[in-house]
Amino acid sequence: MRKSKQRDAILQVLQGTDSHPTAEWIFSRVRREIPNISLGTVYRNLNQLADGHLIQRIFDDGHLRFDANLHRHDHFRCIHCQRILDLEVELVGLDEAISDDDRFNATGYSLEVTGVCNECQHETEEI
Ligand SMILES: [Zn+2]
Ligand SMILES: [Zn+2]
Repeated sequence: MRKSKQRDAILQVLQGTDSHPTAEWIFSRVRREIPNISLGTVYRNLNQLADGHLIQRIFDDGHLRFDANLHRHDHFRCIHCQRILDLEVELVGLDEAISDDDRFNATGYSLEVTGVCNECQHETEEI
């Protein structure tokens, strides 16, 4: 991958947040630094970064989001505000259960926990 000022700026924006943003959100931030950048350029660079394993793609309910946290981790998604939080959980027994299944050879897994985040919980309590 050639070095690119635009891609560096995009990666920096993504590394500076843990909100698992969409390309549009990243675009709105990167534009502050590079006003003439286009959404298409942001998409293209995000895909290059993901293909180069510098960031991760997250598919969530039809939305494509991005994550600069490359450690194996899982996600909590709030069904109310769509916020995604990182989960650090050990799934005890899952590795064995997967490798004991001889119908496939697993190369990884992902878990999505859904629910209502604390902020949304407080909001509904106030009503
Ligand atoms: Zn929420
Ligand atoms: Zn994450």
